[in-house]
Amino acid sequence: MSRQSGIKINQFQLAVLLDESDKEFFKSIVSNNVYCLHCRGFTQKGIDIEEIYLTKFNDVMVYGKCKVCNGEVGRLFEFGKENEFSIRANKLRKSIKVS
Ligand SMILES: [Zn+2]
Repeated sequence: MSRQSGIKINQFQLAVLLDESDKEFFKSIVSNNVYCLHCRGFTQKGIDIEEIYLTKFNDVMVYGKCKVCNGEVGRLFEFGKENEFSIRANKLRKSIKVS
């Protein structure tokens, strides 16, 4: 799986970006609504999150492993469409020094 370019962020930084409803949405998706190619269906037991990226469109790309088969999975969250999310994301961008 090719990894999308963007800023790598950790779960604490992600938590800052998400408001309460975003968090609920995020949680419900990663627990049972990520498609696993190996299981040929949505991940029944959720995923272990390994890497989180903030894309240039201010969407959130998550990579991890299916808890059932350990296969690699990824899911894009289109938070960039939300104005408030984008404002928080741009602030975070400024606070992260890209080396
Ligand atoms: Zn699987």
